[in-house]
Amino acid sequence: MIYIQKHRTPDIVQRKVSEIINTPDSGYEFIRLPENTKQLRELFENMPKDEIRKELCKEQHGLCAYCMRRIEPKRNSTQIEHYIALSVDKQKALDYQNYLGVCDGGKGNKKGRASVLCCEAVREEKGLTINPRDKRQMEAIGYKRNGEIFVRRDSGLDPELVDNMQKDLDEVLVLNGKKDISGKIVFDTATQLVAHRRSIYDSICTQFERWDKKKCLTKEFLKEKIEDLEKQLQGDRIAEPYIGVKLYFYKRKYKKLDR
Ligand SMILES: [Zn+2]
Repeated sequence: MIYIQKHRTPDIVQRKVSEIINTPDSGYEFIRLPENTKQLRELFENMPKDEIRKELCKEQHGLCAYCMRRIEPKRNSTQIEHYIALSVDKQKALDYQNYLGVCDGGKGNKKGRASVLCCEAVREEKGLTINPRDKRQMEAIGYKRNGEIFVRRDSGLDPELVDNMQKDLDEVLVLNGKKDISGKIVFDTATQLVAHRRSIYDSICTQFERWDKKKCLTKEFLKEKIEDLEKQLQGDRIAEPYIGVKLYFYKRKYKKLDR
């Protein structure tokens, strides 16, 4: 998971929201939640969703806000996720600042074998503590060699917050697949998130060995590599999938070289 800096609300979205709110026929005024969730969803369906998808993909560098898979600004690739669920906040339901672009969670590739869905496909309307728009939280995210995503206990965040964030990763967004009671991963998500992250870790190790053999693995060298990766997350650039994993291990190595 990586930090997302929201752009300002696109004009076309703003105009549509004003139209919905100010047209008495839309029924917006009389919507009460949760009982009128269906009506509110219908109003949301009238939003300029293609433009919203395009803008979300841009500000998220083509990556799912939760799992960092590639998303494209197409209806079947990017879902518009309400960070605060639509059924609990009428105002936020139409607020671009509350939207995240997320993947299909594996709905497209689940074939009955032992696997679970992830991201929005499994979250439904549950509340979240973990928030990709919170920089401090995102800086506390780490990855293990086996491909697991976790919240670092040494991140300086409140231990209770860390617990709640970890719960969101494991149980609400299911980014670590299915775990048994002891916390061991028994099977992956349908989107193979754990396997993808693990294979990135493996290729990073090979890369480090190669650089080490060539005697170029210095602090300065690695700093440049980190900056190159961070450039992918600037402006409207499209970043490589799971870029957070690479950044995490590169930065960790950098710290080790620093000692
Ligand atoms: Zn996802």
